[in-house]
Amino acid sequence: VGNDSFGNDYADNLKKNGISTAFVGQTTDAATGTASIIVDSEGQNVIVIVPGANLLLNVEDLKRASDVICKAKVVVCQLEITPAVSLEALKMARASGVKTLFNPAPALADLDPQFYTYSDIFCCNETEAEILTGIPVGNLEDAEKVGRMLLERGCKLVIVTLGAEGCMMISGDEPIPKHVPAGKVRAVDTTGAGDSFVGALAFYLAYYPKLSMEEMIRKSNCVASVSVQAPGTQSSYPYRKDLPQDLF
Ligand code: ADP
Repeated sequence: VGNDSFGNDYADNLKKNGISTAFVGQTTDAATGTASIIVDSEGQNVIVIVPGANLLLNVEDLKRASDVICKAKVVVCQLEITPAVSLEALKMARASGVKTLFNPAPALADLDPQFYTYSDIFCCNETEAEILTGIPVGNLEDAEKVGRMLLERGCKLVIVTLGAEGCMMISGDEPIPKHVPAGKVRAVDTTGAGDSFVGALAFYLAYYPKLSMEEMIRKSNCVASVSVQAPGTQSSYPYRKDLPQDLF
C-alpha cells in the first residue's frame, strides 16, 4: 500500500479483522491502489481500477514471505498485482505442494498459459471467461464450453461464476459439468461478489478440506450471495456468529 490515508486505513482494517499484516509494506513511490465503483439500480457495477502500489510488489517481496507461502494450506492469486509476480507465487506454492486457487481478475486477453497449468482451481466470471476464450457466456452451456476449453489448457478444475445463477464446475476427474445454483436473494450491490466467492472457497479448502468440492462451492455461493445484499464490499455481517451457521 502507499504511505497515505488509504494505505493506513487498509492496514488498520486488516489488523482490526485479525489478519496478519506482517508482509504488508508501505511505499512512498506510489499511491495505494484504488477502485472507483459505479452501481446501477439492478446492483450491477462498472469499476475503474488504478492499481498504484500494487504494481510495485515484486519477486523479492515474495521471497521474504516464502516461509508463509510454502507452509500455507491454500494460496490465492489474481491479477491485481503484476501477472509475473502472481505466477511466481503460484509456482512457489505448487513447488511446496500447496493448493493453488487462481482468479484471473481483472481479465487479461494474453494471459501467460502457465497460469492454467499452475492453478489447481481456476475460477473466473463470465466476462473473464469471454476475454480468455473468446466465448461470450450467456448461459450454462456457454460456461460448459469455456470449462472444457480451460481444462484442455491444463487446469485441473474450472469454476465459472454466473452471478445470480451461481456457478458451473468441471474437472479433469469429473468431466461432466455441474451447475451449482445460488439462492434467490435481492441483490443491492454485486461489487466484490466474485472476491467473496473466491475467499469463501479458499476458507473451505483450508479449514474443511474433507467437504466435497460441490459442497464447498454451494457454501461459497451462499457466502457470496450474502455479500450482494448490502451496499459496498464490506460484509453486512461483521461477526461470524451473525452468519447462517450451516456455513461452518
Ligand atoms: P463477479 O463479482 O466476479 O462479477 P459473479 O457476478 O459471477 O462474479 O458473482 C460471483 C458469485 O456471487 C456467484 O457465483 C454467486 O454465488 C454470487 N452472486 C452474484 N450475484 C448474485 C445475485 N444476484 N444473487 C445471488 N448470488 C449472487
